[in-house]
Amino acid sequence: MLGFEVKQGVAVLRLDSPPVNSLGLEIRRLIVEAIARAESDPQVGAVILIGSGKGFSGGADIREFGTPKSYAEPHLLTVVRAIEECLKPVIAAIDGVCMGGGLELALACQYRVAAPGARLALPEVKLGLLPGAGGTQRLPRLVGVETALNMIVTGATVGPDQLRGTQLFDALAQGDLLNSALEFARGILAERRIAKRVRDLSIRMQNAEAYFQFARNMVKAVAGPYPAPLACVDAVAASVQLPFDAGMKRERELFVGLMATPESAALRHIFQAERAASHINGVPDSLATRPIARVGVIGAGTMGGGITMSFINGGLPVTLLETTQEALDRGLANIRRNYQGALRKGSLTQAGLDQRLALITPTLLYEPLREADLIIEAVFENMEVKKKVFEQLDEIAKPGAILASNTSALNLDAIARFTKRPADVIGLHFFSPANVMRLLEVVRGAATASDVLATAMSLAKKIGKLAVVSGVCDGFIGNRMVARYGMAAHDLLLAGALPQQIDAALQNFGLAMGPFRMADLAGLDIGWAVRKRRAAEFPNEDFSNVADVLCEAGRFGQKTGAGFYRYEAGARDAIPDPDVSAIIVRFREKRGITPRTVSDAEIVERCIYALINEGARIVDEGIAQRSSDVDLVYLNGYGFPPYRGGPLFYADSVGLIAVAHGLRRIASTPGADAAFWTPAPLLLRLAQEGKTFSEFKGHPK
Ligand code: NAD
Repeated sequence: MLGFEVKQGVAVLRLDSPPVNSLGLEIRRLIVEAIARAESDPQVGAVILIGSGKGFSGGADIREFGTPKSYAEPHLLTVVRAIEECLKPVIAAIDGVCMGGGLELALACQYRVAAPGARLALPEVKLGLLPGAGGTQRLPRLVGVETALNMIVTGATVGPDQLRGTQLFDALAQGDLLNSALEFARGILAERRIAKRVRDLSIRMQNAEAYFQFARNMVKAVAGPYPAPLACVDAVAASVQLPFDAGMKRERELFVGLMATPESAALRHIFQAERAASHINGVPDSLATRPIARVGVIGAGTMGGGITMSFINGGLPVTLLETTQEALDRGLANIRRNYQGALRKGSLTQAGLDQRLALITPTLLYEPLREADLIIEAVFENMEVKKKVFEQLDEIAKPGAILASNTSALNLDAIARFTKRPADVIGLHFFSPANVMRLLEVVRGAATASDVLATAMSLAKKIGKLAVVSGVCDGFIGNRMVARYGMAAHDLLLAGALPQQIDAALQNFGLAMGPFRMADLAGLDIGWAVRKRRAAEFPNEDFSNVADVLCEAGRFGQKTGAGFYRYEAGARDAIPDPDVSAIIVRFREKRGITPRTVSDAEIVERCIYALINEGARIVDEGIAQRSSDVDLVYLNGYGFPPYRGGPLFYADSVGLIAVAHGLRRIASTPGADAAFWTPAPLLLRLAQEGKTFSEFKGHPK
């Protein structure tokens, strides 16, 4: 974990705790011991602290988050003090990742030598925190207030080049980092240079008051509901305005304050949720994956185009198949237009564009798909069409090729049975626009092989997607939840609210877009067609919806300039429309509903509780592996506000007893659909046991 070797009168302490030398309790203890040992060893004149593997250190050990180990002594502050007060000069030799607590460790050293590949950051703000081991006090002393503040407020990663001209590095390594650091150490020992401590560097700034006021205004404008960025400004201001020890105290107070905020708790939950999502129940993390060097995409429509872009962006060649030359040309033109937009914005170079397009092999034949290691279909959402496609794939695909469907609602197990190799079939449910949206639901069929799942998860990471495993059910995790949310919103429309009130209430809660604006964006005609089909299948049930009346009037949403709102040509602003209000009034009258006043609080409660209740069922049924997976889907696919951590994390913060009570109250109101609002069994069970969703680890597969 920590190597100790004396070389040419210098103790070399090598952090060796893969993958990123995170600073867990054991390694912290070893560092303190090694510093003491070096201090007392007469053979040692100086100490080098160096990393291994991916670099210096990635900072705190996330596995210790929230456990007593993260607070146990030696705490990071203790380690930092031991290094700073070491009687012999300590030199940080930095390459690769040097982040968070790792950078704070390096800042406490008396000297720093960096390799060109060093990547430095204080990313705590991304978890709603600030660097709590002296980073906000030492970094400004070395790189200047402005640069330090930028790094701390944004959490951005910088390299030695961007920090040239500051006092951060005492030498830049040429060639081998350890040799450079040893040479530097010998130099300072020969010169008998007096070790300087960063805490003793003076920090002066003219017009500090005015500067920090300006910084606060800037940060306030972009921080939204998050308290951490402003606290970062306060902490850096303390480095200028207070003596070092008082500044450290201020940093600690601010850090402890942020630790207790719900926003930071939510962001830390998301951070851990993302790490947990890659583990698949019943599949060892070490399972070998299948190599994927070439991808096939079938259908070059909305989804097929975006999926193709996702793969070529990740450097994977794609064979793109369509039924007609015209459809193929249209699909390719859309892809090109998309990239040209990026070119105009400056986020892509011409060379990058050419490189990407060159990775596409368009075809009208199945033959070229013989070479593909993974084939994804994104053809029409129709079982007969999918059946034909999968039968053809079964004929042509090489043994071991993964056959994937992007279906939103069809039964994946039925699709798998169209082939003689159901173990190779999986669902890869991308979200629209597929080249932009980070979320990917990886659908595990009854027969899907473990290594097929593991391959899909690792491939998703490779192309920059956040993959979440879902079982097979109608709508998988996300669409199943949003359907319930839509029903709750529609009920409120009937009860007496208007689309604009419902949307505004939910947007104030933090959702990126209210349900009716979202419906207008997605297009109302898709749901209309589904309801017509269902009504024909089940003539005794009532599937009618205000959206049907809108569709009958040609209002399909944004694409037709009118839906639940109206839209000016070329603009996306949703404008409330009295015609829609009139349609809603008539719809209520037809159903004999007397409208009542609906409060914003009721809107939020009903819509969000509907999500929570369905999320609980999804976890209980094992469709989602864990509650944090449900949160990730809703955060990344449906615009749930990150500072609330996702629907189930939000439920935990409200308290499951309160949520269950709220659901029962709604269920017992006159006219309410009692089955819809009855609290889900898992929710009730956890509430009774005084537990949270986060504590429930899911049902093992
Ligand atoms: P689309 O109509 O835009 O594209 C479908 C394309 O498939 C068309 O270009 C069509 O020519 C082509 N096609 C049809 N039959 C084919 C065949 N036999 N062989 C090759 N190509 C064929 O549809 P879309 O919105 O891209 O949806 C595709 C799939 O993705 C559907 O299963 C849909 O449910 C799913 N999906 C859609 C979204 C979305 O938001 N649009 C999101 C997730 C998943």
